[in-house]
Amino acid sequence: MQHIIDRFISYVTVDTESDPNSNTTPSTAKQWDLANQLVEELKQIGLQEVTIDENAYIMATLPSNVDHEVPTIGFVSHFDTTPDFTGANVTPQIIENYDGKDIVLNAAQNIILSPTYFEDLLLYKGQTLITTDGTTLLGADDKAGITEIVSAMEYLIQHPEIKHGKIRVGFTPDEEIGRGAHKFDVEKFGCDWAYTMDGSQIGELEYENFNAAGAKITFKGKSVHPGYAKGKMINSMLLANEFISALPENEVPERTSDYEGFFHVHHLNGSIEETVLQLIIRDHDKDLFEARKELIHTIATKINNQYAKQFGEDICIAEVKDQYYNMREKVEPVFHIVEIAEKAMKEVGITPIIKPIRGGTDGSQLSYKGLPCPNIFAGGHNFHGKYEYVPVESMVKATEVIVKIAELTAQK
Ligand SMILES: [Zn+2]
Repeated sequence: MQHIIDRFISYVTVDTESDPNSNTTPSTAKQWDLANQLVEELKQIGLQEVTIDENAYIMATLPSNVDHEVPTIGFVSHFDTTPDFTGANVTPQIIENYDGKDIVLNAAQNIILSPTYFEDLLLYKGQTLITTDGTTLLGADDKAGITEIVSAMEYLIQHPEIKHGKIRVGFTPDEEIGRGAHKFDVEKFGCDWAYTMDGSQIGELEYENFNAAGAKITFKGKSVHPGYAKGKMINSMLLANEFISALPENEVPERTSDYEGFFHVHHLNGSIEETVLQLIIRDHDKDLFEARKELIHTIATKINNQYAKQFGEDICIAEVKDQYYNMREKVEPVFHIVEIAEKAMKEVGITPIIKPIRGGTDGSQLSYKGLPCPNIFAGGHNFHGKYEYVPVESMVKATEVIVKIAELTAQK
């Protein structure tokens, strides 16, 4: 267990925050620091064909140790951390034999990680937790995934009696800014299927995610002195208000769960002459997703018709762009890849928790690029902030799951 802790800490103490405002890949030069470190480590533990390309995508191979044909499978995770919270100078704290009580992350700033608020903590009573010092995120998302993949490969190398096919390892930059899969060379990776090790709680296994689109709606207006505005002024902010009111009021993130989709207004910026409204559209169901996008256009058309005479041209311009799709469509035809993961979990004593992701993963993009890619837990909780933590036991179990998947895939 100490070995896995040391490995994890050697990753999280390297700052790899990504940056959505950058156009380069990786988006930040500092991601190379960990990328180069990982390349050396992969070589050092004995993996072959260790490569890093000009965009810092890392790939490596563990060759098959059986004579019969076995599908090539891959394990993928990302080494960047979210720009939502600082990842510089991470100082992890290790809490052994967690007693189920409040954890003081930072006494000076009175930052407490409490099971009263984060009930999940109680699942890990008696275990070893790694937390932050309250001033940074931890980076278990997704350096826990990297730790598990490297540890599993090392274990397989040291235990040649465990039979497996060819295994590929893939580490990406920039997942947190939605670009982890963009420059991932699926052909070069050469796998029949893969798993991202990027879920949260122990047992999580996910192969369904949202269909996602973003909409930008621009409202025009006409500014006139308010004292003389009757019949003349058009206030674009009020048009935006009208638009928002025409959306189903209960279909918002704060009132939906499981398979319920939503519209989420996340930006509104306006003056009388022009207002820009930005929202995202999410739904697991493809038809409902299309219907949601259609509703945006229907409302826009209605407003345009209403003001056609007075304004003379379209007063409301709706631009809707697809962002990613539900991987279920790509995973269902090869459902055995989910079943193998499920079986692997059960064989190492974990109860699988299969549920739809209310978001996207790199795996969804990879699935549409031809690499079906469900998501498996990496073990961390409270991603993207100072309350992030990971139980070491969960990382150990995830490592065992990887080893077991390799083994099950090679069974005749
Ligand atoms: Zn992640």
